[in-house]
Parts: sequence; C-alpha cells; structure tokens
Amino acid sequence: MPKISVVVPCYNEQDALPLFYREITRVAGEMNYAQFEFIFIDDGSRDDTLPLLRQFAAADARVRFVSFSRNFGKEAGMLAGLEAATGDFVALMDADLQDPPALLPELYKAVTEEGYDCAATRRTTREGEPPIRSFFARMFYKIINRISDADIVDGARDYRLMRRSVVDAILSMREYNRFSKGIFGWVGFRTKWVPYVNVERAAGETKWSFWKLFLYSLEGIAAFSTAPLAIASVLGFLLCVIAFLYIVVIVAKTLLFGEAVGGWPSMMCIILFLGGIQLFCMGILGQYLAKTYLETKKRPVYLVRETEKGVK
Ligand code: UDP
Ligand code: MG
Repeated sequence: MPKISVVVPCYNEQDALPLFYREITRVAGEMNYAQFEFIFIDDGSRDDTLPLLRQFAAADARVRFVSFSRNFGKEAGMLAGLEAATGDFVALMDADLQDPPALLPELYKAVTEEGYDCAATRRTTREGEPPIRSFFARMFYKIINRISDADIVDGARDYRLMRRSVVDAILSMREYNRFSKGIFGWVGFRTKWVPYVNVERAAGETKWSFWKLFLYSLEGIAAFSTAPLAIASVLGFLLCVIAFLYIVVIVAKTLLFGEAVGGWPSMMCIILFLGGIQLFCMGILGQYLAKTYLETKKRPVYLVRETEKGVK
C-alpha cells in the first residue's frame, strides 16, 4: 500500500490540535487505500502542545513528532517534517484546520490518477482579512513574479501533497534562508491547483502580524530575486544623464546671462536627494550581504530536543 506522510507544523496549538487530530484520523480512515504517518513538528511551543503530541504518539503508532529546542519558525518546521517523512507521498498541512484535511482525497487523486507530481491548494477569496493586508499581498505577488523566475501563485497556501521526487527536489535545496512559496515554484514539476474557499482558524490565534508578514515578503524577494541589486545601477545611470543635461543648462545660462553663483536651495535638495538614494542602495546591498553572511555560517535550520522515540 502507498504511504502518505502528513507533516504538521505546530506552534502553541493546544486548542486546535485535538480538533485537528480527530479530523485527520477521520479522513485517514476514509482513505483506506493508503497507509498513513502523521508527523507533528512542535516548533518550541510554550503551551501544552508537546504533552498532547506525546499523548497522541503513545496511543497511535502512526503518530510521530519532532520537538525543537526553541521556536525556529514555520519554515524550519516544514523542512524538519519533510526530512523526517518516509512516505511515498508527503502532505504539508497547518494544525488549525485552515487547510481542510477533507481535501486530501482530491489531492491524492490528482497525484495518483491525473498524472500530476504535486497537488497544491489556493484560496479563492481573502475574506475575513483586513483590506490593507489583501492590498499588500496582491502587490507582493505582482512584484515577485515580475522579478524572479520562481512562479509564485497568488493566494497559494502551503497546503499541498507531493510525490517523493518533488520532496527530494525540495530537500536538495539546502539554503538557510528558506522561503517555501518560492522553493515550491522554483523546483517546478507538474502542479495541479485546487481552489477552495478560505476557512477561519478552528481555535487559537494566528501567529502572523502585518509587520511579520511584511518582513517575510522582503525575505522572499531577497531569497528569489537579485533585481533590487540592479536598482543602484539604473538609478545611477539615470542621475548621470540628468546631471549631464543640467551641466549643459548651467553652462548655457552662464554664457548667455553671466550668473555663475546662486542656487543654494537647489544644491541642498540635490545633495539630500543623492544622499538618500545612496543610503537606500547601500541598504539593499546590505540586505543581500546579510543573507550571504547567514548562508556562509552554515548553521542548522533547526535543532531537535525530543522526538517520539524520547529526549535526544
Ligand atoms: N507555525 C509554526 N511556527 C511558527 C508559527 C506558526 O510552526 O513560528 C505553524 C502554526 O502552528 C500553524 C501554521 O504554522 O500550524 C500556520 O500558522 P498560522 O495559522 O498562525 O498562520 P496563518 O494561517 O494565520 O497564516
Ligand atoms: Mg492559520
């Protein structure tokens, strides 16, 4: 029988986990044509997530878990889950039931019968989300698709089912700064997009503030495009052209009207403008340098403290 690994990153999900576990076991029961393995990643939770996972694992042989030494973020959680997964197919799913486990049979069918390598989900609406957040999200997708060669779909969730070959491709990307939406798009393969209507969180609270999402989007751009680095060159070139034209104007004015001095305010404006642009471009450079610095350190993406086999 084919084996499906379900990878679930959890951070402070004590309220949602029992609901999730009930639902996923129900779906697994319906899909009796496949074997299951549930891999929960406890991302340094400070509530009762870990004791709950120990309980699940003790009662159900299909349950495995990896508990981190601290909170490393969802990206690290997904990586740990993909590395631990032993199935022929691997599904990534949130613990809050916003990624409905009931879609799993449909995703599975796409991968096993319809010739796709991967079935991913996409929200069709952004209902229940502040309008300003939706606006920035749309902008982000527009920008990143224009400047990077990873195809990133608007509204795409991390909820997906993949064949082993896709999982191995993702695991072969050893970068430290992981931006999964970009990685999924970058590896390619034949992906079926399954749309579904956004569901509210079953219990607990979202871990993403607007600011966190904003920073995450900048990470994504830095990880999958070097276009911002070209901004300095383009601006520099434009300013040279403008400066040259201005020189011509000043020379002509001096020769025709003889007024050589003056223009203190315009001088200040130009100095401040150029100073601003230079700092801005240095900032971009610094961003990439910082990423490079972190990559060269080759730090582990996560550290494990405990698994279902006990404390390490
Ligand atoms: N999550 C995680 N580590 C974190 C933050 C979130 O493992 O540092 C998990 C969380 O438990 C959930 C999933 O990532 O299963 C998505 O998080 P959340 O529901 O807060 O995000 P949203 O759905 O609001 O985008
Ligand atoms: Mg959620």
